[in-house]
Amino acid sequence: MPGYKPSIYNLTQEQLIEWAIENGEKKFRATQIWDWLYRKRVQSFDEMTNISKDFIAKLDENFCINPLKQRIVQESKDGTVKYLFELPDGMLIETVLMRQHYGLSVCVTTQVGCNIGCTFCASGLIPKQRDLVSGEIVAQIMLVQKYFDERGQGERVSHIVVMGIGEPLDNYNNVMNFLHVVNDDKGLAIGARHITVSTSGLAHKIKDFANEGVQVNLAVSLHAPNNDLRSNIMRINRSFPLEKLFEAIEYYIATTNRRVTFEYIMLNEVNDHVENAQELADLTKKIRKLSYINLIPYNPVSEHDQYSRSTKERTAAFYDVLKKNGVNCVVRQEHGTDIDAACGQLRSNTMKADRRKAVVEAAGR
Ligand code: SAH
Ligand code: SF4
Repeated sequence: MPGYKPSIYNLTQEQLIEWAIENGEKKFRATQIWDWLYRKRVQSFDEMTNISKDFIAKLDENFCINPLKQRIVQESKDGTVKYLFELPDGMLIETVLMRQHYGLSVCVTTQVGCNIGCTFCASGLIPKQRDLVSGEIVAQIMLVQKYFDERGQGERVSHIVVMGIGEPLDNYNNVMNFLHVVNDDKGLAIGARHITVSTSGLAHKIKDFANEGVQVNLAVSLHAPNNDLRSNIMRINRSFPLEKLFEAIEYYIATTNRRVTFEYIMLNEVNDHVENAQELADLTKKIRKLSYINLIPYNPVSEHDQYSRSTKERTAAFYDVLKKNGVNCVVRQEHGTDIDAACGQLRSNTMKADRRKAVVEAAGR
């Protein structure tokens, strides 16, 4: 970005080694820097006490460490923490930390806005302004980890879900780079099996992802069991209908031998009929043993008031049909409903508040 120093978090360890060598240093120097960044988690190059002053000056000339500014932190009663971060160009993104029984899980944002335009999603209300570069995605994890480092209880981010604002497979290279950085065993060392990438269903990119040879989990936002309904609620289905999507998913499973998770938001009287549950069971029959379905309570978005959350009874009836068909499925718990935790909501509500403030200020002038 013109005018801004890029973040050193953009580099994988190999790229940092290459850069250090090009700049007259030895490989082990890059390894030391990597350790300062991801194990000791310093916030300035000056803190790297075993690096020469000259080389620190060179690092400073070329990079910043953390490109994000923390604007708002909200902590919910159930331990969910929501962060609003400002990018160097002033744009806002959000990150959510969820406390799970298995550890601390962070939901990261990959784009400012999203072009996929799903009709139920707060993020889709804002067209994509730009992709995040990989260092801006890494920085979200680093700032959440810093928040816990400062509490001094030794808690570590153990899981990542790439399910915040944006379509990760539409920002493919940056997301892959990010995965390499956080997975690096000399750094944060977050295991690939503890990371999940969620996609709205870009079939060709699912195939590319299958060919990466990484052990990262794949989740597919399905939300409807037939093309008519899916095209109505997710326009991406018009480009990648279920036949194409499932061909790619079957390719992914055959190539990686890994399970796929389906996300299915329960929209009252839209996609939650028992007939839909049967269609969903039939659609996934071929990959029964290698798939898993998450039924997700809809988080109401005020701009999408055509939708409401399925009732408990409808959700239970839907779930029963799936279970009778031998589907692996679960009704997902919610996190942080008292703090705008649905993806895109804190950001969209803060932007509204900022715009209100601007109007009030302009009126006062
Ligand atoms: N773009 C990717 C990842 C980000 S969205 C994708 O669509 O998969 C992450 C998940 O949140 C998706 O499953 C999405 O469908 C879901 N989601 C979006 N809006 C929601 C809402 N209002 N309530 C519940 N889940 C929502
Ligand atoms: Fe984009 Fe995912 Fe929201 Fe759809 S659900 S608009 S793909 S962020």
